[in-house]
Amino acid sequence: MKAAPEAQKRLLDLAELDSVIDRLAHRRRTLPELAEIDERSKAFARLSTQVIEAETEAGDLAREQAKAESDVDAVRTRADRDQKRLDSGAVTSPRDLASLQSEITSLHRRQGDLEEVVLEIMERREAADTKVTDLVAKRDEERATLSTAEDRRDAALSEIEKESGEVQGRRAGVVGDIPADLLKLYEKLREQYGVGAAMLHGGRCQGCKVALSIAEMNRIKAAPHDEVLRCEECRRILVRTAESGL
Ligand SMILES: [Zn+2]
Repeated sequence: MKAAPEAQKRLLDLAELDSVIDRLAHRRRTLPELAEIDERSKAFARLSTQVIEAETEAGDLAREQAKAESDVDAVRTRADRDQKRLDSGAVTSPRDLASLQSEITSLHRRQGDLEEVVLEIMERREAADTKVTDLVAKRDEERATLSTAEDRRDAALSEIEKESGEVQGRRAGVVGDIPADLLKLYEKLREQYGVGAAMLHGGRCQGCKVALSIAEMNRIKAAPHDEVLRCEECRRILVRTAESGL
């Protein structure tokens, strides 16, 4: 392949810009915020599940309490009705009176037992409600931390995007100075080896840092200026400049 020495030198500018682009892409992939967000998201999801579980438990206890209170009310209503009958004087037979009195006593005992049950549920419910409040606070705190980390990630990404846009703009300018076939070779090598072109500097390929043999240097010295050379070692396009040591 042949290309004007000036066009070949532009490959070095291109390689430098591409290495900046690679560094930016690497920074984008390895932002510390990404790992932090991942961890925080998991913690937030865990706490959200715990909140739902605690809320379900508190809801169950609220229903259990309502049911127990309604049981107390039913027994109390019945005891009140019996007491009114007793107080009204309508029941006169001693046997009926004794039976009514016994029922009232039994109902009061039952009411006492049921009220104990209500109190016990209320205590459990209070503990469950406290647990909900604590978990909701923790979850909200986690959400706020997550949101801050997301903001920091977005700010970092937008900074990288801005820098990347500038470099891409400069790259487009450089690409305009390079003939299509040379650019195509460069892109192919870049895809294969990460870097497409390197400078021959002081007898060494700057890509792989290997010193060229005397025979290789002689071959390069004899090559026409517009010949596109390749490093024997790393296969990159080897660009000759005034600093090449030729
Ligand atoms: Zn090399």
